[in-house]
Amino acid sequence: MFRVNPTTGDAGPCRALSGKCPFGGANEHFTSIEGAEKAVTRVTFRGEDNHELVWWASKHIEVEEDEVVKVKSGKIKKLGSYNGVDQTTLKNVRLEGF
Ligand SMILES: [Zn+2]
Repeated sequence: MFRVNPTTGDAGPCRALSGKCPFGGANEHFTSIEGAEKAVTRVTFRGEDNHELVWWASKHIEVEEDEVVKVKSGKIKKLGSYNGVDQTTLKNVRLEGF
């Protein structure tokens, strides 16, 4: 099985024991690496304070650079930082109009 690392977005083989994968459950795993790569769209929201919100969407999201999108709801999956930038990873995100 293959999965996507939600922090880096890299697709790769899952080496975790069944049910103990840090990258998610069965519906976040794929039978091919192509499937894992195609299954996600990294959406980064950047606020004026440079804080980033990252969401690995499980479908293709058609957005333009600098487009303003409204998040209806989302759950915080992970608080952290990446390359020195504060980064909050979201899950279960719902966007208005998508
Ligand atoms: Zn896994």
